[in-house]
Amino acid sequence: MDYEAIVVGGGFGGMTAARDLHDAGHAVLVLEARDRLGGRTWYKPFRGSDKRIEFGGTWVAPRWQPHIRAEIERYSAELIESPVPAEFAWSLGGEFSTAPNPLPVEEWLDFERGIRAIDNAAARIRFGEAPLDQRGLEDLDVSFDSWLRGLELPRKTRDFLMAWAGFFFGAPCSEVSGLHILSWVAGFENSAVAWYVAVSQKLAAGTAGLIDALAEDSAADIKLGAAVDRIDTDDEGVTIATRDGGRFAARAAVLATPINTWHALTASPSLEGAKAAMAQERMAGHATKLWALVQGVKGNFYGVGWDTKIKWLATEYSTPEGDLLVGFGTSPEELEVTDETAVAGAVREFLPGAEVVRTDAHDWNTDEFSQGTWMAYRPGQVMRTASALQRPEGRLAFAGSDLASGWCGWIDGAIESGHRAARAAREMLSTTAVA
Ligand SMILES: Cc1cc2nc3c(=O)[nH]c(=O)nc-3n(C[C@H](O)[C@H](O)[C@H](O)COP(=O)(O)OP(=O)(O)OC[C@H]3O[C@@H](n4cnc5c(N)ncnc54)[C@H](O)[C@@H]3O)c2cc1C
Repeated sequence: MDYEAIVVGGGFGGMTAARDLHDAGHAVLVLEARDRLGGRTWYKPFRGSDKRIEFGGTWVAPRWQPHIRAEIERYSAELIESPVPAEFAWSLGGEFSTAPNPLPVEEWLDFERGIRAIDNAAARIRFGEAPLDQRGLEDLDVSFDSWLRGLELPRKTRDFLMAWAGFFFGAPCSEVSGLHILSWVAGFENSAVAWYVAVSQKLAAGTAGLIDALAEDSAADIKLGAAVDRIDTDDEGVTIATRDGGRFAARAAVLATPINTWHALTASPSLEGAKAAMAQERMAGHATKLWALVQGVKGNFYGVGWDTKIKWLATEYSTPEGDLLVGFGTSPEELEVTDETAVAGAVREFLPGAEVVRTDAHDWNTDEFSQGTWMAYRPGQVMRTASALQRPEGRLAFAGSDLASGWCGWIDGAIESGHRAARAAREMLSTTAVA
């Protein structure tokens, strides 16, 4: 065999695993289906300009995220801040407002009560220490929508909290496990407010800069355009087949592809219970992320709406042609991100007087190598699957942000999972045959 280990998937999870295996002295092959590395991160120019922007994963929070912090330090990556907003718009409780504060004073006490309940529930989670299916958290693995309704908050406060959780998970709150949502609050030291205000830092050289650093450091042989469709494992090793007829063998492998793509893979022996179930059920994340070049916006804009097609819209850059705004929605049915007229209309829900010059987006939901956005467990999936998803099967280890214990859904989670998978693969390589 030419390689000791094969990594399938060249996103942050897979490339971390490849780099760690190289650090441990192993020769690695990376098989990546697309014609580029980075997976659900993609740093490339906005249409019709040379301004590079993030079409996928963007913000990092190194103060709270130890794995991305370590990589930023290792590769001396610089960070930049998103602009501080100065102009606001809110569409909550059926009303549109441009006040600086989203909620009327008469709802502040209820807002505080809601935030306290969220923070207290989050404090029950042992964040990052173990997979999320921890004993005693079963009552939280229900839809966040039903959990939040139980607090009986006034309409605007509830809409605001739903919009916040919804756009951060890329799905309506009825489709997402409250336990998964609350775990991110736990990650921000049990502070929902910290989560809301702290996501402002991004990589100056883009996510591509960090992926390139990992790729170079891994010294891996990287095959692009290598879509894997079959994985056979036995006691001795792994044989991997690609769609174009390639066959590769090694003594250990790491599968680092998104959960929502697993259903298209043939594995022998087939994936075990929880993994097979997840491959069929899929996770819920199906966000829409869009960019719009807009003229006529006064100051740095920030808008949140629950009854709007875009749930969150903000100025990211000012350019000579106008302001570049980034927006997120929670459903491709509600907004087709590649339909420029529809996107312009959705932007004008927040900025009625603005001129939308040009828009751009990547549709991650129809992209066959992601089939969704970032990890959002459905209600009940956490307790049924979280530990099992991480478990190696024979000579196959698993990586990916979708499987992380801590920042599951974030770039940090992908890196966490890559470290774990590399440790598992090293163990496989230290034995001649797996019992
Ligand atoms: C729109 C959007 C916005 C986001 N915003 C943020 C953010 O602000 N901050 C943050 O931290 N995270 C964000 N995320 C999430 C973050 O980008 C991901 O969680 C993380 O990048 C996932 O890394 P991964 O390695 O687990 O998976 P991926 O990046 O998906 O990597 C998997 C790789 O496997 C490859 N692959 C798939 N199928 C096959 C196959 N059959 N054969 C070979 N290769 C295959 C894919 O092409 C891909 O390169 C966002 C994601 C999206 C989509």
